[in-house]
Amino acid sequence: MTEKKEFILTLEGVNKTFDGFKAINDLNLYMDEGELRVIIGPNGAGKSTMLDIITGRTQPDTGKVEFGKNTDLTKLNEYQINRLGIGRKFQTPSVYVEHTVLENIWLSLEGSRSVWSTLFARIGSTQRDRIQEILQTIGLVDRANVKAGTLSHGQKQWLEIGMLLSQNPKLLLVDEPAAGMTDTETAKTGELLMSLAGKHSIVVIEHDMVFVRQIARKVTVLHQGHVLSEGTVDEVQNDERVIEVYLGRKKKH
Ligand code: ADP
Ligand code: MG
Repeated sequence: MTEKKEFILTLEGVNKTFDGFKAINDLNLYMDEGELRVIIGPNGAGKSTMLDIITGRTQPDTGKVEFGKNTDLTKLNEYQINRLGIGRKFQTPSVYVEHTVLENIWLSLEGSRSVWSTLFARIGSTQRDRIQEILQTIGLVDRANVKAGTLSHGQKQWLEIGMLLSQNPKLLLVDEPAAGMTDTETAKTGELLMSLAGKHSIVVIEHDMVFVRQIARKVTVLHQGHVLSEGTVDEVQNDERVIEVYLGRKKKH
């Protein structure tokens, strides 16, 4: 027998019903360490619920949800799961608008827990280097000292990704990062996520197929809480079952 492969994330036979409605239906998902996985699927397919289950916001009725080899996420609460190194970015950016970009990163750095104690402290040189590195990664070095409230929508999203990065997450969950972005911002977001893959494992939920094509190696299509198809963008786009779900028709031959 071959040894069981070690995944960074394993969902197996996961089910979740809300008031009799099966939002997640025998869901299986396996992610390699360092992978950038894109999840697509029609509205109501269960994509956000899947993230809720991974992050401990929602308890599955049944099934296995494991981080790494041995950590059963169903036994932990949201805070504990976050502390394990699972960071989530919601659709709407939530940054401290009255603070500068640099301060926002500083505030979210590992160990800097309280807004006030942090702002009255001095930034240490190690922290300064780390902040600079994050600002470079997210492309906001020249915006470091402006108030976050003055940033464009896209820049706020990048800042929030930077705030997540400051916590050194092993697994990053990103829900529809390109929503509301200009084409240029969308392309830059794609580059950012691709630059993070490898160092982090990343799950990206997205609708914009141009964006999906830009970043995706492996795509998982969710439909009615279940994996309908999985593969490269071309493979899933040519999959009869996917065509039927998205276009409501069979592919012509
Ligand atoms: P997606 O993100 O793919 O659009 P969701 O995961 O948000 O889909 O939703 C899947 C289904 O589960 C939807 O029909 C939604 O109404 C339902 N749902 C999600 N969360 C809850 C909840 N907390 N309570 C009741 N129904 C929910
Ligand atoms: Mg959603």
